[in-house]
Amino acid sequence: MLPVVGRLAPSPTGLLHVGNARSLLLAWLAARHAGGKIYLRIEDLLPDGDQHLPALLADLRWLGLDWDAWQDHDFVRQSARSPLYDALLTALQARGEVYPCVCTRKDIDLAARAPHAEDKAAAYPGTCRDRFASEADALAFERARAQAEQRPPLGVALRLRVPTAPVRFSDVLHGPQVISLPEDSGDIVVRRKDGGVAYMFAVVVDDWAMGVTQVVRGDDLLEVTGQQLAVYAALQRLDSPLLPPFAGLPHYAHVPLVLGDDGRRLAKRNQSLHIGALRRQGIAAWQLRQWLAQSIGLETDRDWVAQFSWQRLPRAPVQFTAFELNLF
Ligand code: GLU
Repeated sequence: MLPVVGRLAPSPTGLLHVGNARSLLLAWLAARHAGGKIYLRIEDLLPDGDQHLPALLADLRWLGLDWDAWQDHDFVRQSARSPLYDALLTALQARGEVYPCVCTRKDIDLAARAPHAEDKAAAYPGTCRDRFASEADALAFERARAQAEQRPPLGVALRLRVPTAPVRFSDVLHGPQVISLPEDSGDIVVRRKDGGVAYMFAVVVDDWAMGVTQVVRGDDLLEVTGQQLAVYAALQRLDSPLLPPFAGLPHYAHVPLVLGDDGRRLAKRNQSLHIGALRRQGIAAWQLRQWLAQSIGLETDRDWVAQFSWQRLPRAPVQFTAFELNLF
């Protein structure tokens, strides 16, 4: 069996809150329990994506999480890895796995065949699939359209063709999953119109490149895992020397989220539940760690790493409210 390799993959676009901390602690426990390594990867692909990086690193250390160096780097930053992503995208484009797309969100909604829930974007109907001979053609089309509409031209996105056959995987906590990508998402954006590489692509390239065997993250990402498996499949077909030999898909464990007072999952709006805010309120790291450990089903007076198991983890989301704060 391969040695376990996990990763902590926070996005420094916002500050860490209790929910992020719990998912990261679970990823850390699962890797350390298996005697494995865990790497830190900063997912800073969005413009201004790293404004909270110093605070993020401070919060991780305050929480007592540690990580292993990867290839002499203390941690990996996605923003430094664009040349690899771009080279792989170019190679995929040459094989016709990836194609240029000029559609706007409005075009997609108008063209969508299936009705879709309001909170979920319509699946991409494939309008640009066989539309342009090259990216230059797509760009020329966009420039002409922008001129006719009297607006500045946007860039051209790149999309990955998804398979028609259902994608299957088994999640450690959610069991077998079957996803039909043409209905669920349609062809996936792998490079945005602003030229930036999309999360969906970079996450797979990096998990593969770093030898990640275990992905532990919030269950809001369960749904998009099928899209990530389609990226894996395209990269396997590409068989690029830029990536190490394929060593198998990671195991996925999508963990329940933490809810706030309002019963909704914690997000940027819950400023008072950011780790830094708790620290400023005088809460000690050990107090928060105890709460997190209890919420994970651990007995806090015994070795956490040794006793960790997925069976202990409650399957329902937990609430972290003002009431919890009063306990500290
Ligand atoms: N960077 C993502 C986030 O902070 C997590 C990505 C992942 O774990 O695959 O939500």
